[in-house]
This record gives sequence, structure tokens and C-alpha cells, in this order.
Amino acid sequence: MTESKKFILQERDIPTRWYNVLPDMPVKPEPMLHPGTLKPLTPEDLYPIFAEELANQELNTTDRWIEIPEEVRDMYKIWRPTPLVRARGLEKALDTPARIYFKNESVSPVGSHKLNSAIPQAYFCKKQGITNITTETGAGQWGAAMSLAAKHFGLELAVYMVKVSYNQKPYRRSIMQTYGAEVVASPSMSTKAGRKIITEHPNYQGSLGTAISEAVELATSTPNCRYVLGSVLNHVALHQTVIGLEAEKQMEMAGDYPDIVIGCFGGGSNFSGISLPFLRHNFSGERNTRFIAAEPESCPKLTRGKFHYDFGDEAGYTPLIPMLTLGHNFAPANIHAGGLRYHGAGAVVSKLKQSGMIDAVDIPQLETFKAATLFARTEGIIPAPESSHAIAAAIREALQAKEEGKEKVILFNLSGHGLIDMTAYDSYIAGDLTNHSISQEEIDRNTADLPGV
Ligand SMILES: *Cc1c(COP(=O)(O)O)cnc(C)c1O
Repeated sequence: MTESKKFILQERDIPTRWYNVLPDMPVKPEPMLHPGTLKPLTPEDLYPIFAEELANQELNTTDRWIEIPEEVRDMYKIWRPTPLVRARGLEKALDTPARIYFKNESVSPVGSHKLNSAIPQAYFCKKQGITNITTETGAGQWGAAMSLAAKHFGLELAVYMVKVSYNQKPYRRSIMQTYGAEVVASPSMSTKAGRKIITEHPNYQGSLGTAISEAVELATSTPNCRYVLGSVLNHVALHQTVIGLEAEKQMEMAGDYPDIVIGCFGGGSNFSGISLPFLRHNFSGERNTRFIAAEPESCPKLTRGKFHYDFGDEAGYTPLIPMLTLGHNFAPANIHAGGLRYHGAGAVVSKLKQSGMIDAVDIPQLETFKAATLFARTEGIIPAPESSHAIAAAIREALQAKEEGKEKVILFNLSGHGLIDMTAYDSYIAGDLTNHSISQEEIDRNTADLPGV
């Protein structure tokens, strides 16, 4: 173990291949199903929605390593490799024998890990000759990343932004517009799915599920247009493995290996990104690392969701995914970690959880802001409210280590910074934030009418 504070790689160390976990999983996920025929999905089924290369990646269960195109690596060079930092200030404040490291994905131009997948998604669309793309965004991080990537590759982008965020987070909207995207508040009158929900619930403030329905509908009804998604799916998790692959090298530079790896959890992309490369050494029996996905108490799909086939969106346009879910029409409380307000977990992470390969914890909102504030004061970075769930989980583990008097090595992913989320911090400082727990009745009610397969 060295005394350094941060561990820096060179451009040449940016991974040349993504890691595909599917061939290595001892218990594989059930197949995704076509929503019409209920037959196992083929790549061709996905071609009307996604670029072909992305559809092929989605269903690739045989190639462990997938080449990163040179054009994508070139754009990664804008900010990658990202630093790995030893959180000595935080360790000291906690007076813990644990050694805490974090991978700092907040240094990307848009302030989060989302750009790692936005770039290849835009690239593969462009390569196929697609001219227009659609997507959804909750808090705006994915929309911002996609706007930049689309502009870089000369694609026109329409973003459906969850209405409550559209109104509460005007700066995220301006960021997308600055990069040149068109931003629409969802639900909107521009799609059948949007009109239906506005008619039934005129004051509905939107959800990721609804925004996905609108974006998919526009993509499939517009010539030369495809849809892109920022989380949940296998190909998104695949692209994010650059995080863990770099971190693996950096932990080696630090002379340490993590006992525990932690990521916050929305749909699973940053958690997968930091975890899957380390998890492969558990599969091979070389290591016995613990993995913890940290989700909000108000949206506990991994800790309390039902394992079942469900849609990825509100209207039921997407394939049926075998997932831990709170139900595709679940409307989570309006917490500030907007990027974690999604009803389900991707098929891979759901299966890893079901088969005991990873753990999950759910964390109350106030604990996440307390953790975020301590982190800001000791490490200098104001974390995204989403990332603060990972910090809170890391703090729990570090305090546990102190209680047990054990040296433990903890690695967490700092998925983004919170400098565009200061209204959330304002509310916390003013004492206006509350916890939002959810009752078992509510979960049961929401998962009672899942698709019958
Ligand atoms: C979107 C987002 C998340 C949650 O999404 P995952 O796909 O679960 O990673 C977490 N942190 C930040 C900063 C985000 O932008």
C-alpha cells in the first residue's frame, strides 16, 4: 500500500475492450421476451428500436471481451482515465481502520459516468447511417451526456425529460439545449402514450417509465430514427465497465484490493461499471469480494422488489425483462436523487442479486445528505445526490470496520458531482428534507398486475 492520495493512469491505459459479464455468469438471466409474441428476443426484434450493433451487444452471451472502437476511445480521452482517490480525509473523520477509495467519474465534461455509454451509443447509430435519435432523461444527467455525444457525431437528438425535473432543474435543461438537443417535458401531447396519460391524469408529473414510452414511440414512428437508453440494459452496463477495468489497475498501483465494492443504484449502469470487472475474479474463485448496490429507501427494487418479467416502460412498448421490479407503473416519491427513481433493475444485476452474487442496501434520504455533506467537507467534492447513496453505504461499512476493529478495503464509485443539484442541498440545509419509506401494501399493490408470463 502506498502513501499516495490519488492514482492516475495515462491515456494509453484507457481500456481497449469492454468486459461482457454474460458468458461468465454461473447462473444466467432468463431471456428477454418480445412484448407481442412473448418469444425469446432476437437481435432482429430490437433493430427497429436500437442501432443494430447495440442490439447485438445486448444479446451477446458468448464474447467475454468486446473491442472499443478507436473513435470512441478518442472521445474518452477528453476526460479518461479518471482518477482513483484514497479518501484519507473521510477515513480520518470517521476514525476508521478501513481504507476507503473512490473512483471519480464526476470529472467527465457533463459531471457523471453517463458519457461512457452515450459516446458508443451515438457512435454505433452514426456508423449505421441513422440521423435522428430519441431518449428520455430523469434528472437530466443522461440527457446531458447524450446531447454532447449526439452533437459530436452529428446526430439530431430529442430528449423527453420527466416533467417534475423539467420544471425543478432548469439548468439541466439549459445544458442539453446548449449542446444542441431538443428537450420536451414528459408526459407530452406529442405521443399517444403521453396523450393517454395526460388525459387520465392531467396533473401527472411524469416518470422515467412514461418518458421511455414517449421516446420509444417517437423513434419507431420516425424514419431513420432510433432510441437510446442510459441504464438498465446489458449494452449500457457493458460500456460502463471501463470504470472498473481502470479501477482494477489503479487498485494495483495503490497496492490494495477491495474487500467491498459499492455503487449507487438507479437502473444499474454505474454499479455494473465499477463491479463487474472485479466480480469476474469472484466467478473464477480467485477472490471473494463483497458487492453492495445502494438504492433509495423510497425506491427499493433490489431489496424489496418482486422478481418477475416486467416492462422497462410505463406503456409496455419495451421487451419484457426478467427483473427485480416495483411494477412498471410505480411512481416513486419525489426524492432529490432523480437518477435513482426507476422501477426496476436490469436483468444481469437482478439475476446476480437473486443468485447471491451481490448484496443491496436501501438508504433513507436524510442519511444520504448527511453522508454527502461529510464527504464534501473532508474530500472537497460535492457529490450528486445519487452518488451520495454509495457514500452513505461506504460510511456504514467503514463504521462497521471500526466497531469490529478490522482493516477493510472499501472501493466506491463516485458516479457524479452535485454542482447542478444545489437546490437539493439548499433544502437539506434548511431542514426541509424528509425520508420517504414505502409500505409493503404499496409494493404489493404495484406488483399485483405484472405481465402474466
Ligand atoms: C443516472 C445516474 C445514476 C443512476 O443510474 P445507474 O444507471 O444506476 O448508474 C447514478 N448517479 C448519477 C450521477 C447519475 O447520473
